[in-house]
Amino acid sequence: MEGCLFCSIIEGKIPCEKVYEDEMVLAFKDINPEAPIHVLIIPKKHINSINDLEDKHENLIGHIYTVCKKIAAELGIAESGYRVVTNCGANAGQTVYHIHFHLLGGRNLNWPPG
Ligand code: AMP
Ligand code: ZN
Repeated sequence: MEGCLFCSIIEGKIPCEKVYEDEMVLAFKDINPEAPIHVLIIPKKHINSINDLEDKHENLIGHIYTVCKKIAAELGIAESGYRVVTNCGANAGQTVYHIHFHLLGGRNLNWPPG
């Protein structure tokens, strides 16, 4: 989508530190990491937020979780533990309106967040 930061990353117009890619998703390191491991997993198709999900996206969202599992194993945090977070809307702190999944690990994560 025109003017979307993450669509620009998918199109290669803005660089990223790629961690994983397939036909449906791209995963790359967060530019401002909140944990030793902080990866963003995004669908290649533009979707604003959870609020814009439709039934047809269910396979994609399920796929993203299996990608999270693979990345966590590859980066060595499967056993120590990790968190997958999606912020939706202003009160959750969503800043980029292209749906994304934060994969955080490598330290003891506080609960509850925020
Ligand atoms: P959220 O606040 O949930 O919308 O998350 C947006 C995330 O995108 C933040 O953690 C930012 O640090 C991250 N971010 C913003 N710009 C970039 C970029 N160019 N490359 C990688 N991560 C980015
Ligand atoms: Zn986008």
